[in-house]
Amino acid sequence: MSQHFDAIIIGTGQAGPPLAAQFAAAGMAVAIIERHKFGGTCVNTGCIPTKTLVPSAYAAHVARRGAEYGFDVNGDVRVDMKRVKARKDEVAGRSNKGVEEWLRGLKNCTVIQGHARFQSSREVVVNDKVLDADKIFINVGGRASVPEMPGIHDVPFLTNSSMMDADFLPEHLVVVGGSYVGLEFGQMYRRFGSEVTVVEMGPRLIGREDEDVSEEVRKILELEGIRIRLNAKCITLTKRDSRIAVGVECEDDPPEVLGTHVLLAVGRTPNTHDLGLDRPGVATDMRGYIVVDDQLQTNVPGIWALGDCNGRGAFTHTSYNDYEIVADNLLNADHRRVSDRIQTYALFTDPPLGRCGMTDTEIRKSGRTALTVKHPMNKVSRAVEKGEPHGFIKISVDADTKHILGAAILGTGGDEVIHVLLDVMYAKAPYTIVQRAMHIHPTVAEFLPTVLSKLEPFA
Ligand SMILES: Cc1cc2nc3c(=O)[nH]c(=O)nc-3n(C[C@H](O)[C@H](O)[C@H](O)COP(=O)(O)OP(=O)(O)OC[C@H]3O[C@@H](n4cnc5c(N)ncnc54)[C@H](O)[C@@H]3O)c2cc1C
Repeated sequence: MSQHFDAIIIGTGQAGPPLAAQFAAAGMAVAIIERHKFGGTCVNTGCIPTKTLVPSAYAAHVARRGAEYGFDVNGDVRVDMKRVKARKDEVAGRSNKGVEEWLRGLKNCTVIQGHARFQSSREVVVNDKVLDADKIFINVGGRASVPEMPGIHDVPFLTNSSMMDADFLPEHLVVVGGSYVGLEFGQMYRRFGSEVTVVEMGPRLIGREDEDVSEEVRKILELEGIRIRLNAKCITLTKRDSRIAVGVECEDDPPEVLGTHVLLAVGRTPNTHDLGLDRPGVATDMRGYIVVDDQLQTNVPGIWALGDCNGRGAFTHTSYNDYEIVADNLLNADHRRVSDRIQTYALFTDPPLGRCGMTDTEIRKSGRTALTVKHPMNKVSRAVEKGEPHGFIKISVDADTKHILGAAILGTGGDEVIHVLLDVMYAKAPYTIVQRAMHIHPTVAEFLPTVLSKLEPFA
């Protein structure tokens, strides 16, 4: 005998819980299943804890620069990692508890803890019980990838998840992977007081970004004493007494880096291998991501996939937007589509990088006639006043339609200011709207109208 629901949701990431709440409010009987921590990656091992750690690191960094701002700190700035972790645990713990209490308090919603697996296209097994529903929603997220690199089984290593238990300061942290997750951890641990080396296989950091962005981020990190080893073509891990040797095979420099701890930050893998997807025949791609259409339906009618596991986004906001698309389409007879959204995200180093729309490479590929402008942050008065003059504002527009094509704001406040441009893009309005707007002085955003008056043909 199976227990019947109107909807079953697997996973309590960023899409599952709001979907459960909305279905339940509409009078549907909902079951939501979580095998580990309520709130998933963002709440427990991703955005919330890391964005709580970054300000601790920032505070230590500013304290060390006290003399520049006109104050003295008596003695060295020493970070107590136990207290840093306690602060992080408190903030993330509150969110985790909040998600669980919210779900358990919902009328019409049954919360089940356990590992869910498909038995058929309408049935899911959890804790040896069978549940069935006409609609099943998969929000199982992903985990840190652990590639089969030589030595990986012989040495201890950290991931973004095990990093959450760290209440000590590694003497020398070697971060394998020079992309978003690796760089955030790398900078924060350097500021906490570790020696940090970032080892990246590619020829530059954050390889998806434009070269000038990668280069400026590299300069900013190196200024803080982070060592960066690029072109590490063949990474190996070897135990050397109490240390770990990370083979890098870089062209010019020594062939290995000797660290005390290794953090693996080389990408994510979707949690789709142990879901029994073969039972209903849900299609996945070569990397295990569930294949979905523009409205997030899988190839099996009645089964949807939302969040990181569908490969259509890797952010909290993309997962939450997936929920909005599915809920509006099912409950409000709307026709929302994934392809309607505009690419946007941030790298939360300090200063942060706010990004929206196309990169230069994508614009070039598109063959459009574009105009572009790049303005250094050391010519933005607010950045200079704050003593944070690194980075630049770069915006590109379509020369014919005048629509904004893409932007990168690497600099103080870049993660917030980018939304000025993003919302104009959503409004499908010309850039001249921003160019003629009056903004508040002194802010970083106040420079956008001025910057947009200096557009030149795209090289
Ligand atoms: C270090 C780090 C920092 C990040 N920072 C940011 C950031 O600043 N901004 C941003 O937008 N994004 C950030 N991200 C990405 C963000 O965390 C994810 O995109 C976001 O959590 C969306 O995840 P999700 O909804 O797909 O599922 P997840 O949050 O991954 O949740 C999936 C849930 O499903 C559960 N589950 C899995 N399989 C089963 C099963 N078979 N049965 C029952 N339950 C199951 C899991 O236990 C988990 O709780 C970061 C990620 C990392 C790793």
